Amino acid sequence: MKKRVGVFVCDCGTNIASVVDTEKVAETAKKIPGVAFATTYKYMCSDPGQELLRTAIQEHKLEQVVVASCSPRMHEKTFRKAVEAGGINGYLFEMVNIREQDSWVHHDRGQATQKAIDLVRMAVSKVLHNKPLQISSIPVRKKAMVIGGGIAGMQAALDIAEAGHQVVLVEKEASIGGKMTQLDKTFPTMDCAA
Ligand code: SF4
Repeated sequence: MKKRVGVFVCDCGTNIASVVDTEKVAETAKKIPGVAFATTYKYMCSDPGQELLRTAIQEHKLEQVVVASCSPRMHEKTFRKAVEAGGINGYLFEMVNIREQDSWVHHDRGQATQKAIDLVRMAVSKVLHNKPLQISSIPVRKKAMVIGGGIAGMQAALDIAEAGHQVVLVEKEASIGGKMTQLDKTFPTMDCAA
């Protein structure tokens, strides 16, 4: 297992840094086994922030990357691309949310900082077990199989068919209808269930 993780802790201006002691997070990260480099930056997603990441990967020969910043919904793709531009497979990267799940929801600086450290420690541990992945495309046939011909299965099959796709409905019993066919009448209309 290669062990040269880079940890990048974002201030997000004051969004994170006003609650989380980002310097302390980076300094503590340096002591985590496997971490070869750790730093803070004011805005990691900015062009200079991404450039810092790319340069550090090459200068410090990093092989895995952890970015502690905002939600992956915001910038996971941004950092994955930056990591790839630095020469590392994009899946040897983990993102830690110390903004929405930490600085935005906590007020105690000491506890919020400790939480950020714990989150970074977990991400470092995980990224060391990540494997490089390659994105591939596989052709699919637009055809569906629904298993179970009860009411839900029949409705699902009808919905798919009405959307224009071929459906195969599979039922292990001799007839479709499921539990519904065992009932006599159904409330409130008292219609015949079958
Ligand atoms: S990476 Fe996220 S947390 Fe950091 S500056 Fe950009 S938006 Fe803020």
